Amino acid sequence: MKFRTEYMKFHTKTHRAYIHITPQIEAFVSKSGVQEGIVLVSAMHITAGVYANDNEPGLIEDIDQWLEKLAPYNRSYRHHQTGEDNGDSHLKSLLIHHEVVVPITAGKLDLGPWQRIFYAEFDGQRDKRVLVKIMGE
Ligand code: ZN
Repeated sequence: MKFRTEYMKFHTKTHRAYIHITPQIEAFVSKSGVQEGIVLVSAMHITAGVYANDNEPGLIEDIDQWLEKLAPYNRSYRHHQTGEDNGDSHLKSLLIHHEVVVPITAGKLDLGPWQRIFYAEFDGQRDKRVLVKIMGE
């Protein structure tokens, strides 16, 4: 069994951002030499997420609007009594979830035809990391 750990760094220019990271994950898998296994891609933060879906600009805007509708940015969250202002960012992270696991088959990510991996930032303009853990033979 082989294990390999990589870290990706992010510092987005905008407060919210959706970043396509499939090519970097593919490169990590290729470098690991793992032929059969899984890769865990996990945001190491409580105001960010990782998800798998279509790489299509209209859909990304739809996802952003859907999250904003369910967890709107405003100042009424109880979390803000701690002096923070990112209550919505925590809730958006819960909706998207913080990690995905993708199978590796024959040395490649075994994604469906339209599945792509994204990093979702909900409280940007600061340093963030994503853990990439590759496990297999
Ligand atoms: Zn907070």
